[in-house]
Amino acid sequence: MHILVVEDEPRLARLIQQALTREHHVVEVANDGEQGLDLAASGSFDLVVLDIMLPKKDGIEVCKTMRELGVKTPVLMLTAKDTVTDKVRGLDAGADDYLTKPFALEELHARLRALARRSPEFEPVETLQVGDLVMNRTSREVMRGNKPIELTAKEFALLEFLMRHPNQVLSRDRIIENVWGYESDAPPNVVDIYIHFLRRKIDHGHSKALIQSVRGLGYKIQE
Ligand code: CA
Repeated sequence: MHILVVEDEPRLARLIQQALTREHHVVEVANDGEQGLDLAASGSFDLVVLDIMLPKKDGIEVCKTMRELGVKTPVLMLTAKDTVTDKVRGLDAGADDYLTKPFALEELHARLRALARRSPEFEPVETLQVGDLVMNRTSREVMRGNKPIELTAKEFALLEFLMRHPNQVLSRDRIIENVWGYESDAPPNVVDIYIHFLRRKIDHGHSKALIQSVRGLGYKIQE
């Protein structure tokens, strides 16, 4: 899944990102409410983990505005204190569930799984397409033209991140943050290595290469 984490406490944001990345989710982090709202409003996430106490705009306001804008992405609210008021305010603002800090990562996983399953209005983005390359995220199948492509979990996560941002140049740092996680001990050239693997599987033998290098900046996928 593509998950947005809006959390201003860097250590906790990293911890959540790491935990979700290990489960092969693609995670983006926003450190304040404004950035969180901008990203959430794009509607391209499957789930949002939203802290209440945030700089610039608090989580309640972010959630309320998302719903006013018609964004239906399920929201799991993080509350600092186990107070009824925070929970009620969160749910009133349109959150789907809440988790009280501190929480066990296992519980976070369980809540997110439950949210993804039960949200009736929510239709997850199941298929991504760039040119004749199609990714089905439910069956985890990737096809270029009529040819199925076998990918490892990491290759799949990297390709998913690229396909979610078609025609955009993504820097190596941004790719590492989102696909490997902040505190990854992956070597700096890990992105180049995996792009090489992906190209061999996806572009090799085709007249049109979809994965492109942008010198000095990073990579993009483009039809
Ligand atoms: Ca906070």
